[in-house]
Amino acid sequence: MMGAVLKSYYAEMNDIDPKNIFVVSIMPCTSKKTESAREELKVNDLRDVDAVLTTRELGKMIKQARLDFMKLPDEGFDQVFGEYTGAGVIFGATGGVMEAALRTVADVLTGEDLEDIEYKDVRGVEEGIKEAAITIGDKTIKVAVAHGTANAAKLLDKVKAGEADYHFIEIMGCSGGCVNGGGQPHVDAKTRMNIDVRAERAKALYEEDELKTIRKSHKNPTIKRIYAEFLGKPNSHKSHELLHTHYHKREIYPIESNERSRVVEEAAVASEK
Ligand code: SF4
Repeated sequence: MMGAVLKSYYAEMNDIDPKNIFVVSIMPCTSKKTESAREELKVNDLRDVDAVLTTRELGKMIKQARLDFMKLPDEGFDQVFGEYTGAGVIFGATGGVMEAALRTVADVLTGEDLEDIEYKDVRGVEEGIKEAAITIGDKTIKVAVAHGTANAAKLLDKVKAGEADYHFIEIMGCSGGCVNGGGQPHVDAKTRMNIDVRAERAKALYEEDELKTIRKSHKNPTIKRIYAEFLGKPNSHKSHELLHTHYHKREIYPIESNERSRVVEEAAVASEK
């Protein structure tokens, strides 16, 4: 989304040829490297995101440059799209996207600026699938959250079997969500035996969320400006074109299982290098 908005809205507002913008995303996720090359994620034949670095790679680069990160003075983000809300922060934890969406849905359905915005039923890493019925005004919203692909499969089987009537489902591929993504800094096995890294990282995000003055996505001044000046309104034709995507079914990678293990191992060694 950021790449698409930079190469359309930002380029137009600043009279820059999108061909002269190079977008690098820093992500917790190794899969984003493949995702950035998807044909569906292009604007006028230009890739939304040109390159992806994982947080682990960025960490290594900071160390290689001999920067003492902890001693750097704190400062704000550049004001290109530097404003962010608590809702954006918690996206990194399982249940976070759901909670951020519920904060907006509740305001939209009630027409109020609600103060009670914490949906703790969808938080936590202990349960692989979390279900909740949330009362908003006179409506009950049924939601489900799954993290880890094994849990995602269980939840989707339930939907396929017609045993679920959720209004909204959140699925994150990694156990615990992006805080535990494949591109995140490694934590050694001994530490992991004593500390649930997923829970600790999620806790840090919820603490940051609590400290933010703006904790709802639709209250973010930048988001409001982008809709007012460029996208029109949520679900407009332009926002569908730029911010939504679609998928097509692909065949299973046609290799024997012993060959598959070798390829996976080689890819892991290459990414470490
Ligand atoms: S949950 Fe995992 S796979 Fe999904 S976006 Fe986050 S890091 Fe990537």
